[in-house]
Amino acid sequence: MAEKVRMANGLLEVPYNPIVPFIEGDGTGPDIWRSARYVLDSAVEKAYGGERCIEWKEVLAGEKAFKATGSWLPDETVEVFKECLLGLKGPLTTPVGGGIRSLNVALRQLLDLYVCLRPVRYFPGVPSPVKHPERCDMVVFRENTEDVYSGKELEMGSEEAKKLLWFLREEFHWDIKGDSGLGLKPVSRSGSERLIRAAVEYAVQNKRKSVTLVHKGNIQKYTEGAFRAWGYELVKREYAGRAVGWEDCGGKPEAGQVLVKDTIADIFFQQSLTRAEEFDVVATMNLNGDYISDALAAQVGGIGIAPGANINYLSGHAIFEATHGTAPKYAGQDKVNPSSVILSGEMMLRYMCWNEAADLVIKGVEGTIANKTVTYDFARLMDGAECVSCSQFGREVVGNMCQD
Ligand code: NAP
Repeated sequence: MAEKVRMANGLLEVPYNPIVPFIEGDGTGPDIWRSARYVLDSAVEKAYGGERCIEWKEVLAGEKAFKATGSWLPDETVEVFKECLLGLKGPLTTPVGGGIRSLNVALRQLLDLYVCLRPVRYFPGVPSPVKHPERCDMVVFRENTEDVYSGKELEMGSEEAKKLLWFLREEFHWDIKGDSGLGLKPVSRSGSERLIRAAVEYAVQNKRKSVTLVHKGNIQKYTEGAFRAWGYELVKREYAGRAVGWEDCGGKPEAGQVLVKDTIADIFFQQSLTRAEEFDVVATMNLNGDYISDALAAQVGGIGIAPGANINYLSGHAIFEATHGTAPKYAGQDKVNPSSVILSGEMMLRYMCWNEAADLVIKGVEGTIANKTVTYDFARLMDGAECVSCSQFGREVVGNMCQD
C-alpha cells in the first residue's frame, strides 16, 4: 500500500511504496516529464526488482492549474507537498501581470526551503565552452530565503525613498544623492548558519575535501562578511575533529577532515574557470548563488542538463526541479533535453537513500551521452552525434542502465 514519506527523530523515513507528488510543468514540461518518469520508474524497477515502486501523484501548478482552478498555485498543491514532504517539479510559466511574482519563489517560501542545492558535474562527451570541464565537480549550497530576495527596494523619488533618505541623512549623516533609488538586504546569523551547517554536513557525510564560503565581505562587511565569520565560528563550535577552518590548520587539515575556506566572489568566478579543481562544496548567499550556479552549469553543458533541488533539511521538505524554463516554442514537439528533470529525479532518489536506483540513472545518462545519442541542443554542438527526440533519449538512458 502506498504511504507518505515521514520525518521521524530528524531522519527521513521512506516506505517501499512512497507517494511522491509531481508537477509536470508548462510548455515543454509534459514532454520532459513523460521521459523522466519512464527513466526513474525503470531505474527503481531494475534496482529493486519490483520490491520498491514510486506512487506518483499529480498536483497542479502554473498554466494547467490556472485553467483548471483559476489559481496559479492552488492551496491543495501546497498542502500535498507539505504532507508528502518531497516531490518533483517541471518548469513553470511565470505569470505576467499581478498575482504571484514567481511560483517557484512562492513554493520555496511557503515550505521554507532554505537550501537551493545545485550539483555541477561533467558527463564525458557533453559539449562545453572550456578546455577541461571534467575538472568542475562542485556542489553549490545557495541560501534560498534571504539577501536581496527578501530585501526592500524603494523607487527613486517615491515618498518611501524620500522618508528613508531623510532618516539616513539626519540619523546617520550619510551623504546620499537625492535622486537615488534605495535597496536594503537582510542576512541573518540564523539563516546563514543553517545554510552553512547543511553544506558542511553534506561535505562530511559525502567525504568531500572542502567547503568554500563565497562572499563579498571585503565591501559588505556586516552582511556578506558576517556570513563568512559566522561560518568559521560554526565549524569550530559544531564540527571540531570533522571539519576545520583554514586559519586553524594553516590550510592543511588532518586526514579525513573537511577543510573550510573562503573566497571573495569576484575571484571565485575567475578561479572556478582557471582552477576549478580547487573547489568542491560551495556555500554562499542568495544572489551570489544565483550567479554562481548558472555560471558553473555553463561549464558542464548548460541549463538543459543542470539539476537542482530546494530543501529544508530540518523539516524534510524538498522539491527537486528543472533549472531551465518552459521553452514554450518547443512545446509538444517531443524535442527538448529531459536531462535536467531526469537528474533532478536522480537527486531525489539519493535524498530518499535509494542509491542503487540513483546509480543506474547516472550510468544510463553517462552511457547515452558517451554514445553521442543526444537531443538537438547537444547534437548541434557535437561532431558525429545522432539527434534523438526527448522520449527516445529517455529510452536510450534506460537501455544504457545495465550495459557493461
Ligand atoms: P527557457 O524556457 O529556459 O528557454 C530558453 C532557451 O534555453 C530555449 O529557447 C532553449 O534554447 C534552451 N532550453 C531551455 N530548456 C531546454 C531544454 N530542456 N533542452 C534544451 N534546451 C533548452 O527560458 P525563457 O524562454 O526565458 O522562459 C520561458 C518561461 O519559463 C518563462 O515563463 C519563464 O518565467 C519560465 N521559467 C521557469 C523556470 C522554472 O520553472 N524553474 C526557470 C526559468 C524560466 P534554444 O532556443 O537555443 O534551443
